[in-house]
This record gives sequence, C-alpha cells and structure tokens, in this order.
Amino acid sequence: MTELTDWLRSTIKDDLDAAKDLEAASWRVASWAREHPDGGGDERIALVDDSEHRKLIVFTWPGAHVTEDELEHMARHDPRDTIARCQAELAELDELAALPHYAWDDRPEYGCPMFAPDLFVDPACSCGRDAFVDRMTRTKANGYRHRPGWQEGWVS
Ligand SMILES: [Zn+2]
Repeated sequence: MTELTDWLRSTIKDDLDAAKDLEAASWRVASWAREHPDGGGDERIALVDDSEHRKLIVFTWPGAHVTEDELEHMARHDPRDTIARCQAELAELDELAALPHYAWDDRPEYGCPMFAPDLFVDPACSCGRDAFVDRMTRTKANGYRHRPGWQEGWVS
C-alpha cells in the first residue's frame, strides 16, 4: 500500500509541477481557422486564449489527421485546471491518511486496536478504516493506470 500511495502522490506531484511551470495558464479554444496555402492541405489552426490573454496557436501539419476534437481535448486539460485537480487529489490523499480508527469515547479498550496499537501485541484494524483507505487509494490510482510505474496488481 505504501508503494502504491508513494507512486500515486509522486505521479500527481509531477503533473502539478509540470502545470505550475506554465504559470497557471488557462487555455480555451477561442476560434478555428483552416488554411490551404498549397491548395490541397488540411491544416487546422486553433487560437487558444490563456489567462494572460495571449494567443497560443496550435497548428497541425497537412496529413497529420489531427482533428478539431483532439485539439479541443488538449485545450480542456489546461494548466490551471490541472493544478486545481492535482491539489484537490493530494488534499484527498491527506484526508484519507488522517482518517482516525474508531474508538468509543476515545477509550482504546473499546475501539479498533489501531487506535492505540501500543496496547496490543499484534494490532490490526478491525473498524474498517484501513480497508476503506485502501479501497479509495486504489480507486484513485486506477485513474493513473496508463502512467509509467503502474502495476497491474494495484487494482484487484
Ligand atoms: Zn481501524
């Protein structure tokens, strides 16, 4: 579980850092144009606004067969949204890690052994907290299953 959690946090932080390098730009496709300078080309040009109102121009070569839908998809994953998503996902992982084990009225003798593991010879979670955290982490990690380092055994 630790290996999965470490990999997931690292993967999300890499996305976050890459997006921050772009200074939180926000991209949206503002307009499209088509040009046929040689009479037979199929270039597509997307004018993309960022948060500084600069115009980014996405240009496809003739014959590349890049569709407007594909360029629109790229623009939808703009750095500002990526930063917000990554920060939210890291906060979710922090919340999961901070989930307490059950203890009735903070009395460890009536709660999950993991609430006060020092009191038990071989403590193990009996309240379901660890299983819940494991399930939620695997579910979140599944969204990154196409990334380098993913292991098939992480989703069962
Ligand atoms: Zn527990």
